[in-house]
Amino acid sequence: MLVHMPRTRKVGASGKYGVRYGKRIKDRWIAVHVVQKQRHKCPRCMKPSLRRESAGIWSCRKCGLKVAGKAYKPS
Ligand SMILES: [Zn+2]
Repeated sequence: MLVHMPRTRKVGASGKYGVRYGKRIKDRWIAVHVVQKQRHKCPRCMKPSLRRESAGIWSCRKCGLKVAGKAYKPS
């Protein structure tokens, strides 16, 4: 009798990548993704409203400031 496993196991949001990548790479991807989604402090208005717009570009939702930073973290 065939018992189907759930498609996404304990890999969380990276489960959509299936078995193409190893677990260590998935763990690193999750760590990067968590940092990306965190709110970062705006250097102008000092509010934690800086969000990643695209790789290396961060924008503040409060004052509209755009800053170039690192790909995954504002510098
Ligand atoms: Zn701001």
